[in-house]
Amino acid sequence: MECIFCKIIAGQVPCDKVYEDDQAVAFLDIAPITRGHTLVVSKKHFSDVAATPVAVVALMMRALQRVAPAVMQAAGATAFNVGINNGLAAGQIVLHTHFHLIPRRADDRLQPWPHGKYGPGEGAALAGKIAAALTHA
Ligand code: 5GP
Ligand code: ZN
Repeated sequence: MECIFCKIIAGQVPCDKVYEDDQAVAFLDIAPITRGHTLVVSKKHFSDVAATPVAVVALMMRALQRVAPAVMQAAGATAFNVGINNGLAAGQIVLHTHFHLIPRRADDRLQPWPHGKYGPGEGAALAGKIAAALTHA
């Protein structure tokens, strides 16, 4: 077994576990973005969220909703971000489906993503392409 999260789930690699149910497990990220940064992980191996059955995604999200208030309370946070890195170019390092639960505080100084701007008609053209791709999918 090569996958680090499968090893953690199998108990072969230690983790700071905070939650477990039939389908999902949550443990602290070893390299936290903010204090309390938690990973919500499917117990079954799927490579990424796009390859994960929707029923499993729903159960992962249920686990995240369950865990989030406790993480915020323990970490002294007032909000949280949910992050999903899907694919290598998006920063996915561990190819086992997971959500990042990142506790936030007003004073944490974490930078938001930069925002761009569409030129005239560019957004409409792109939306048309996306709609066409969906029609042919
Ligand atoms: P990704 O970039 O794939 O979305 O995120 C993978 C996350 O897993 C990273 O934030 C990384 O710090 C975390 N991680 C990698 N290896 C381990 C590990 O062995 N234990 C724990 N707890 N987290 C890990
Ligand atoms: Zn795995």
